Amino acid sequence: MEKYIKVQKIGEGSFGKAILVKSKENGKQYVIKEISISKMSNKEREESRREVAVLANMKHPNIVLYRESFEEKGCLYIVMDYCEGGDLFKKINAQKGILFSEDQIMDWFVQICLALKHVHERKILHRDIKSQNIFLTKDGTIQLGDFGIARVLNSTVELARTCIGTPYYLSPEICQNKPYNNKSDIWALGCVLYEMCTLKHAFEAGNMKNLVLKIISGSFPPVSMHYSYDLRNLLSQLFKRNPRDRPSVNSILEKNFIAKRVEKFLTPQLIAEEFSHKVFQKFGAHAAPGKRPAQGQILASAAPAQKITKPAAKYGVPLIIKKSCDAPKRYYEKKPLVKCRQAYPTPVKKMHPGEERRKMFEEAAKKKRLDLLEKEKRQRDQISLLKAEQMRRLEKERMERINRAREQGWRNVLSSGGSGEVKVGSRIRNVAQPVLSLLVIFLGTFFFWKRQMPV
Ligand code: ADP
Ligand code: MG
Repeated sequence: MEKYIKVQKIGEGSFGKAILVKSKENGKQYVIKEISISKMSNKEREESRREVAVLANMKHPNIVLYRESFEEKGCLYIVMDYCEGGDLFKKINAQKGILFSEDQIMDWFVQICLALKHVHERKILHRDIKSQNIFLTKDGTIQLGDFGIARVLNSTVELARTCIGTPYYLSPEICQNKPYNNKSDIWALGCVLYEMCTLKHAFEAGNMKNLVLKIISGSFPPVSMHYSYDLRNLLSQLFKRNPRDRPSVNSILEKNFIAKRVEKFLTPQLIAEEFSHKVFQKFGAHAAPGKRPAQGQILASAAPAQKITKPAAKYGVPLIIKKSCDAPKRYYEKKPLVKCRQAYPTPVKKMHPGEERRKMFEEAAKKKRLDLLEKEKRQRDQISLLKAEQMRRLEKERMERINRAREQGWRNVLSSGGSGEVKVGSRIRNVAQPVLSLLVIFLGTFFFWKRQMPV
């Protein structure tokens, strides 16, 4: 810490303090995250150190640069670049209800995806994607920060974290205490995209139980129709309850309306590096519950089932979720995990260019077919929704007619000065009144005539 001068504490996050410092060496400002590791076992501390070393090696224009890390007095300090533009959460709040343009949202979203692609391809999970961990630099570039820090923590701290930290980004599988996996990051990415579109959280409730219920049900208020179909459709894909149905970050970036923005943010050289070869491997995140990864493995990827807090069980939410929502297949059983020394895994099997092109076409055709099927399904759903809506309207009109008639009936009864007997219908009254009048006249004439008659 002697290399830095403390400027001010800029926040107290769920993991510890964030301190703005100034380097004595170059006079530049940095942020230091202070994490208490005194409660960790020696083994866990060792793992944390290795993990931070892996994180420090990640260099990408859309990732907050980790400078160095060190330990002092039971704390782990991680030094990173200071993002002067603040975080996305503050940016969203500063809008005061005025929606962002789709162009702005998509520019930010693509950059977040590029950062996540870089992380996921190295088999590292972020685990804490939220608008407060997405920063803006002075020139408006998006940078993802704080990734992997969640893994530095042991389960005791994590337990506290879920209670203190923001639970809005919890995915259905985490609510059900299933293992965290790459698709849980994708869910949180969906939460951030939704926040950018609506300036609100997708899943909000007055208490934790209702929040968990909402998350598990996967239903969220629709975003404004002002945004394109592509964007709204993407959101619904990111919010699939079953992690396997959510797209990977690579398939998100392959979508036309997203892919076309990539070159705005990466240099051709970086595009070549990031996209030319697929280092992406299936995640081995679904390791057996409670088992810590063996030494030397990329820790974040090989993370054990995270004992968060069993939110669903804790808040008494019954888990009546369909079988389709089960945790993803355990790929780790088939694929050996990459060792830490290979921080940048070698490309998986090079393909012949012709074969690669054929595969690309096949995939495109398959995607088109799936899109068409999805479109048809959506149309069917829309038609049945419209039908239901029409039925509801007709029923409402019918009830209104009945009510009007009933009201009319009462008014007639009351205006005739009657006792309010509902049974006396206006029709009966219409007939009875002249008959009664005739009877009165007749009786009157009769008595008058009788009195005139000599006895
Ligand atoms: P949390 O992520 O749990 O909110 P943090 O400790 O990460 O907590 O952050 C606390 C505050 O510090 C937040 O307001 C965040 O915006 C800010 N902050 C964290 N890292 C940086 C950074 N690299 N640059 C600028 N601000 C940061
Ligand atoms: Mg943070």
